Amino acid sequence: MIEKVGHSEFSVNEKGFYGQFGGAFIPEMLYPNVKELEDNYLRILNSEKFQTEFRGLLKDYVGRPSPLYFAKRLSEKYGAQIYLKREDLNHTGAHKVNNTIGQILLAKELGKTRIIAETGAGQHGVATATVCALMNMECVVYMGAVDIVRQEPNVKRMLMLGAKVVPAESGSKTLKDATNEAIRDWINNPVDTHYIIGSVVGPHPYPDLVARLQSVISEEIKWQLQEKIGRDYPDVVVACVGGGSNAAGAFYHFLDNKKVQLVAVEAAGLGVNTDKTAATTARGTEGVIHASRTILMQTEDGQIVEPHSISAGLDYPGIGPIHAHLFKSERGTFVSATDDESVEAGFELCRLEGIIPALESAHALAYLKKAKFKKDDVVVVNLSGRGDKDLATYIKYFDQEKK
Ligand SMILES: *Cc1c(COP(=O)(O)O)cnc(C)c1O
Repeated sequence: MIEKVGHSEFSVNEKGFYGQFGGAFIPEMLYPNVKELEDNYLRILNSEKFQTEFRGLLKDYVGRPSPLYFAKRLSEKYGAQIYLKREDLNHTGAHKVNNTIGQILLAKELGKTRIIAETGAGQHGVATATVCALMNMECVVYMGAVDIVRQEPNVKRMLMLGAKVVPAESGSKTLKDATNEAIRDWINNPVDTHYIIGSVVGPHPYPDLVARLQSVISEEIKWQLQEKIGRDYPDVVVACVGGGSNAAGAFYHFLDNKKVQLVAVEAAGLGVNTDKTAATTARGTEGVIHASRTILMQTEDGQIVEPHSISAGLDYPGIGPIHAHLFKSERGTFVSATDDESVEAGFELCRLEGIIPALESAHALAYLKKAKFKKDDVVVVNLSGRGDKDLATYIKYFDQEKK
């Protein structure tokens, strides 16, 4: 069920690379921590004990399997058979908890008693604080001081769940500064602490670890489609990409099936040709970010360019190495959606299907308008999260629309 490394040309190889991307470009001091994880993660993930606990919690705590819902009115509008993978119905409202549940079980097996994480929008921080409460583990979440002000409700949630939220006061006081603080903490606490990374980014083995934990999404899509249409694969899978964990999970079991088109939607912000964008493959170049060789938005001398997206979860200047490889090898179709297109697609889903999507997921939905489908095409859109957290942004647009 869980394959070895190198099982596919699109999975990680023994050296921790996807094609030319990935690796572990870490400071010497971090080597023992990362090595311990690398040496143990596959053994633990493949163990019966882990699988039983992981599957049990996904079922009874997260509420999996998440439904695969045939969106009738959306299908009529776009002339295809459109299904929504309802990750928005998970406990905590998004796919992120699939990963944090898996990693906290892994941490427990490694004998760790303390969890650290970094968060930008606060979604990963909340998913981490949630599983720490569940497992009675100490939880420290690093967050940029600017983000703490911008994302107050999520900060309050983390505190309610018993986590400690530590502001990162250096640099731009946002996600990358919080990441630096988390790495510093991990170097200082190598024995008792596990660092839960929230997407398919960071040094090997994190991208592979997170992709495997999120692969439950496509594992379910396969049997759910088999039940519904008598065929266990769609023609198209669409997912938004910030770091790329929900997309990696939705693509995972279809990577080697070339009949399935894999569509990754990046956040164009105000437009790919403006300086307010997060469309990494459109604007980025190859380099190293968060200890991994990938594609990122950087200046000519290698300074990271601040990204922009209306959705906090897609506001990231890089993509995970698996996606850099899917892009470079042309196995994946990389497109983008602007802030406006995405908000519009979000409103459309509200009115046609009675579902308020996260602004991140609305980017994936925005692809429907641009795509050319045949009537019988089976299209799965990964609805990565629900939109409650984005109400203020939606309402601001709604009020403007009425004027
Ligand atoms: C965090 C988040 C994303 C972006 O993260 P990925 O790792 O790219 O999946 C997308 N959707 C939602 C709802 C999120 O919370």
